[in-house]
Amino acid sequence: LIEAVGVEKRFGGYTALKGCSMAVAPGETVVLIGPSGSGKSTFLRCINLLEPPDSGSILFKGKEVGRDFASAVRLRREIGMVFQNFELFQHLDAAENIMLAPMKVLGLSRHDAHDIALGLLAKVRIRDKADSYPDELSGGQQQRVAIARALAMKPAVMLYDEPTSALDPEMIREVLDVMADLSAEGMTSVVVTHEMGFAKRAADRIVFMEAGEIVETRASADFFGGAVGARARQFLDQIL
Ligand code: ATP
Ligand code: MG
Repeated sequence: LIEAVGVEKRFGGYTALKGCSMAVAPGETVVLIGPSGSGKSTFLRCINLLEPPDSGSILFKGKEVGRDFASAVRLRREIGMVFQNFELFQHLDAAENIMLAPMKVLGLSRHDAHDIALGLLAKVRIRDKADSYPDELSGGQQQRVAIARALAMKPAVMLYDEPTSALDPEMIREVLDVMADLSAEGMTSVVVTHEMGFAKRAADRIVFMEAGEIVETRASADFFGGAVGARARQFLDQIL
């Protein structure tokens, strides 16, 4: 469904991605792990062309996405992204955060967008928070609004960049449960997370990155069955 081929990214003289390739099939959930600075966020941002790769290409539904601005915008409509720090609009309530893109980008009426927002809030299990502003919500609730906001554009793919790393422990679970439900329903997902419990229950594949390279890719069953290379093993021993 979405594929990165030989993606390279340099920041000044520093090479953050050294030719990364990864193909994600429809309905698949890939968990991306690796040490800080290994390029995980940069890779996600290249996949949806928030960050233009210096070389290599991104394919969506088998077709190479053009280098022009319009192609990148079109691609991003198909891809929902969720960040560590939620990044909700503080002056809008939960429902309005979700309604914004469907109204502005898809041209839906306020009424139709509101219906969609309420449906999505129910899906992420906070239907009763529709009128609450971000500063009235817990971190876990804010992150679920952010997920609902991404879903409002009916994305083909969801990208999550450490979606629970800013949350208190008791809120991590409720966010991971929503993500795992979406994956189980067949949402194609790429998730940067160190929550290995989530990886075990929701991932089809685990990809390990280090120093800008994809070092290892394993089917989840093999990975959790113990088939892990030396460098990934070393990393896991540090985080677990
Ligand atoms: P973390 O686990 O800490 O989030 P990461 O694996 O997501 O790390 P990236 O954020 O992708 O790592 O960063 C990879 C490398 O690229 C780092 O060395 C970082 O300093 C560098 N880098 C990332 N973004 C930029 C930027 N906009 N300008 C310059 N260097 C950058
Ligand atoms: Mg990162």
